[in-house]
Amino acid sequence: MSVTYDVVIIGAGIHGAGAAQVAAAAGYSVLVLEQFDKVAQGTSSRSSKLIHGGLRYLESGEFRLVHECLRERAMLLRNAPDLVELVPFYIPVYKQTSRRPWKIALGLSIYSLFSFKPFHRIAKIHWHQMDGLKTQDLDTVFGYYDARTDDARLTRCVLESARSLGAEVITSATMAQASVTPNGVEVSYNKDNESVSVKAGVLVNAAGAWVNRVLNRIKDSNGLGLQTANIDLVQGTHIVVPGEINHPYYLEAPQDGRAVFVTPWKDHIMIGTTENVYSGDPAKVCPLEKEIHYLLYIYNHYFDSNLVHKDIIESFAGLRVLPGGEGATFKRSRDTHLLQDNASRPRVISIVGGKLTSYRATAEKLLRPVRKTLKARRPIADTRTLKLPVVD
Ligand SMILES: Cc1cc2nc3c(=O)[nH]c(=O)nc-3n(C[C@H](O)[C@H](O)[C@H](O)COP(=O)(O)OP(=O)(O)OC[C@H]3O[C@@H](n4cnc5c(N)ncnc54)[C@H](O)[C@@H]3O)c2cc1C
Repeated sequence: MSVTYDVVIIGAGIHGAGAAQVAAAAGYSVLVLEQFDKVAQGTSSRSSKLIHGGLRYLESGEFRLVHECLRERAMLLRNAPDLVELVPFYIPVYKQTSRRPWKIALGLSIYSLFSFKPFHRIAKIHWHQMDGLKTQDLDTVFGYYDARTDDARLTRCVLESARSLGAEVITSATMAQASVTPNGVEVSYNKDNESVSVKAGVLVNAAGAWVNRVLNRIKDSNGLGLQTANIDLVQGTHIVVPGEINHPYYLEAPQDGRAVFVTPWKDHIMIGTTENVYSGDPAKVCPLEKEIHYLLYIYNHYFDSNLVHKDIIESFAGLRVLPGGEGATFKRSRDTHLLQDNASRPRVISIVGGKLTSYRATAEKLLRPVRKTLKARRPIADTRTLKLPVVD
């Protein structure tokens, strides 16, 4: 006989971990299935590792998203002080920079208002202390506050928190197929060359870039396939190079005006990221040669450095899940959507898109449709104030 859970979650990235923590805190029985042998092997280990509001989303009018992310940042700084660190970031503005100082100051004013952390201008006498940043044609340098983390470790800690609230997590367990029935969802997964079946009151698809691949494996109560999400997968590459810098820098790519971060990462320097539409197997995404050259060019352009390809210590690529469509990917919404198989009594809820920073807020939103289907239980914790356990 198969075991029954209130909520079965596919994927142990940050969204699966967050959904498990929030659902377990609400008193539900929870099972998380992860296809890889370790958790956080997908995009949640390949991000820019920032816990941030996303200053540049103000440019595209995503005020609600920025506000929500900054609220979550404040919570994480309180609940996970060993994992999330608030640090000063610098924005150098040159005569050639397309975003002029007044525009950046306006954005930073709104950001400061949302986060209660002021920004400032760095006096010219300090510019020579800025990690070899070139000062020719430098007009202004802004300083503001944002936070950094280790994304994979944060995911492991959130999952550990979910476990401590009773959630079960099974790795090397690939969800193979599922079918919606009048009483729930029959889910089967492969583990050690065997097929195992479980029942779920609600199935949460937190498979990130695999979201549509998982949806394609689910049948509704009439035996028909479920609607998939209209998305594009957009690859983002980072490179890690030797050297040490004291602060993260927020730069405008001279090639196309995109935002690129240069941040300290484990005694080295991490530079990222790029945006290229990807259509292959999400498990096989890897940095493209042209992306590596693009990032090296930006670093050498802004810093007193002459790095070449062979200097690179590490490079990795992750996949953003963005709304499908035409036009520049960096102008598309970074908001998260919940796709439900049924609006009044959902049995399958898919998390589409999203940010590392807002994982908890997304999980809380997920709970609303879950409660349309499942009876409320007695909550056992409040994730807004719950301290995260620290694991390696
Ligand atoms: C380049 C890049 C930089 C980013 N930088 C930032 C940043 O600095 N700050 C920020 O807030 N956000 C950032 N983001 C966004 C953030 O990283 C992602 O939104 C987040 O990590 C996605 O997490 P996820 O859990 O949805 O997906 P994933 O982490 O990919 O997890 C999905 C999991 O589902 C599993 N899975 C898939 N199919 C199955 C199956 N059939 N059975 C079992 N398991 C399955 C996968 O193995 C995987 O572990 C960035 C994204 C990218 C691409």
